[in-house]
Amino acid sequence: MDLDAGRGAAMGGALPTRPGELPLARRLRSLLSWPTADTDPVSHLVRTHRTIHPGTEPSVLRRAYTIADNMHRGQFRKSGEPYITHPLAVAQICAEIGMDATTLVAALLHDTVEDTRYTLQALAEDFGREVAHLVDGVTKFDKAFYGKAAEAETIRKMIVAAGKDVRVLIIKLADRLHNMRTLGVRSAASRERIARKTQEVLVPLCDRLGIQTLKRELDDVVLLHLEPDEHARIARHVHDRPGWDAYLDEVVTRAKSALRRSRVDAVVTARPRHLYSIWKDTVAGGHAAPFDLPRIAIVVDGPATDCYAALGAIHGVWRPVPGRFKDFIASPKNNLYRSLHTSVCGPKDRTVEVLIRTEEMHRSAEYGVAADFRFPRSGGGTAAARSEQPDWLRRVLDWEQDTADPAQFLESLRCDLAETQVQVFADGRQVVLPAGATPVDLAYELGTERGDHCLAAQVNGRLVPLSSELDEGDVVEIFTETDAADGFDADVAPRGPRREWLGFVKSPQAQMQISRWFADHTEPGISIADKVRLGRATVGLALRKHDRGLASDLPLLRLSEELGYPDLETLLVAVFDRVIEPDTVVRQLIDLVDHRQ
Ligand code: MN
Repeated sequence: MDLDAGRGAAMGGALPTRPGELPLARRLRSLLSWPTADTDPVSHLVRTHRTIHPGTEPSVLRRAYTIADNMHRGQFRKSGEPYITHPLAVAQICAEIGMDATTLVAALLHDTVEDTRYTLQALAEDFGREVAHLVDGVTKFDKAFYGKAAEAETIRKMIVAAGKDVRVLIIKLADRLHNMRTLGVRSAASRERIARKTQEVLVPLCDRLGIQTLKRELDDVVLLHLEPDEHARIARHVHDRPGWDAYLDEVVTRAKSALRRSRVDAVVTARPRHLYSIWKDTVAGGHAAPFDLPRIAIVVDGPATDCYAALGAIHGVWRPVPGRFKDFIASPKNNLYRSLHTSVCGPKDRTVEVLIRTEEMHRSAEYGVAADFRFPRSGGGTAAARSEQPDWLRRVLDWEQDTADPAQFLESLRCDLAETQVQVFADGRQVVLPAGATPVDLAYELGTERGDHCLAAQVNGRLVPLSSELDEGDVVEIFTETDAADGFDADVAPRGPRREWLGFVKSPQAQMQISRWFADHTEPGISIADKVRLGRATVGLALRKHDRGLASDLPLLRLSEELGYPDLETLLVAVFDRVIEPDTVVRQLIDLVDHRQ
């Protein structure tokens, strides 16, 4: 995503140039100053990457940089810097997380297709399909052609692309982080708008992917732009805390010797909270002064059982604060975060927070899905293939399939990201649901059939109303009409879902499936406008099956002419009424686009 580029090259318009500088002079200067070690713009990136992946051949990074640099030549950021500084910084962020060379190449080129004359096809020929897929995933639909739907469609496309390769989202997050770091040059209004959007969608996305190392900086930079005074206040507090470091040193030393006595090998470090996290706790607790407890992390050398041994050692020295122990090893958080958390009454009677985890848990707590790339396991297959699709992403992609309207998809995504979640047990497995979810939500999560025909529910062995809210750890059993046939009175069983369910279900999945059931089972009083909208959505869905999308209505318009329809709307209504099959439309559309351009 770019916030700054002139769209010059791509749209064939005038290129923005720095006043008073001739292109030739600039080109000469860049020729003269390249590639001695000191001024070589790529060397820092290569160095960072090779510290983590020593085997990589750097030439592909240089080649990607050279093309990106050529393509963006003449474009400048709002700050006045050459545009290429942005993709280079994005690649640097990816390198610091430990991403592979493919990601870095895609990061260097991530804005070329959107903002320059470089095409996706040329990119695929030069760097391969993987890189092309990554760049395409972060390329926006054009507002000029797609209008208001552009933003929602873009996010949807990115999520679908991430379903195939999660690196799309990592590049997107790095892109946004750099844009947020450099927001200073923009007006107060657009700073606030962009920071707000980042907080709404990208920060929770980052959290779901478990990449804490990125999330901490995103959190802090959002706070800086939304609450500058608060950011300054917390930063000042962290900067001058008398005796803080000495106190933490003492805690670390004493924790180390306690562990040694219990024969637990571990690395113990002070673990300061980031500014946003301090601010959040301060506000949540209603404290006047910034509220921040000293915190240490214990990373044990051995297996998970060593974490409990370490916990015993720590509780043996300092009394645990009641109610503060949490076992995220036995019940991991939904982003797969695993650790033991406890608070103890430390030296001088001050409360100290303690995190305990294994090395592997530490890696995935810091890097989340990126850990697969930073610490590649030996064995066949690329890291991308081995990296598992997070549950969360799989769930979003499930209901993405059922949402025709991109705006509705974005709204559901926003809700899903904003919700805190609960885990319940059903059918012998853990199921993650939005907080406030009901047995009906659970039934739909277990399958559309179960949802449509759910009759009653037991929570922890007791029958409850279908509208009751589920709590963390509940064991739930769902009874359906099929079960009723051999137990309940089948005659009183209502067929299908009930309308009032729409009033209390929480998950997008349940809402959509219930609405779909009523749409299928009620007489169509559907308007032409609805038919046009649904016809368009049907074509969009069919296109996605072929990994294609529509950047504009132009091809559809041409096709409707070619097929003899008076206008585009009539074609879309025909698709809705199945006068013409969506697959037929899509086949001809792809033909048209591929052979006429
Ligand atoms: Mn960008």
